[in-house]
Amino acid sequence: MQPRPRHLINSAHAELWPAWLLRARRNADARALATATWVVRSRNGDYLATIDAARNIHPLPPQQPSRNTDGWRALALDGARPQAPVHALPMHGLERRLLELGLDADDYAQRSGLMQVPEPSRLALAGFDRYRRPLWLGSGAGRAWNRMRAAAASDGVALDAISGYRSHAYQMGIFARKRARGLTVDDILAVNAAPGFSEHHSGDALDIGTDGEAPAEESFERTAAFRWLSDHAGDFGFNLSYPRDNPHGIVYEPWHWRWHG
Ligand SMILES: [Zn+2]
Repeated sequence: MQPRPRHLINSAHAELWPAWLLRARRNADARALATATWVVRSRNGDYLATIDAARNIHPLPPQQPSRNTDGWRALALDGARPQAPVHALPMHGLERRLLELGLDADDYAQRSGLMQVPEPSRLALAGFDRYRRPLWLGSGAGRAWNRMRAAAASDGVALDAISGYRSHAYQMGIFARKRARGLTVDDILAVNAAPGFSEHHSGDALDIGTDGEAPAEESFERTAAFRWLSDHAGDFGFNLSYPRDNPHGIVYEPWHWRWHG
């Protein structure tokens, strides 16, 4: 039996999820998942097909057989080589989609001092987050996070992950939903980086929480976990990205740490 894949494979058109991490919503999907190694999802999160261990592709209803199957098979092959090099995905289409949301990417980059952050072609499973969702990080960041978490635990400090890698499409969804609720672009940008500009796209950033503490609240700075991170995170390559009065106009985020290797 082949080992279960522990990577998320990313391309400009689709992503491949390890099938064992997904739960079926319908009986027909459960049968397909039982024999699947990978599940192909569109960039919008639609489930397109499964790929079995022999790299046969099975479209998931209501999808029709697709002409993309060779591309997906190549991605599955890449997924079977966990040491293959990771590259940055092209950013094309991002600026147009931002304009549709009412945001000029060049203008935003200048105002915020933030840079566009490409998505990597592969993320590694770094465990599970507080909500038992798979935690995806770049492989270096993932190893550093698990070492740091173990070191904190041995000092009696509980760290948990709130959120790791997030795709452009995911951040775009947050933005679009807030716009639909009537928030202005400026309202949203005070709290969320623009899609394509979040450090979470890199797979090297992570929101950290601790027992009994609501996620992503400024009160995190008064916890033993934050004091421990302030003293030790640097030893593991993690820095606080958005301290008070940071030049990017992003609110103070004591929970958001980025691995710099
Ligand atoms: Zn964050």
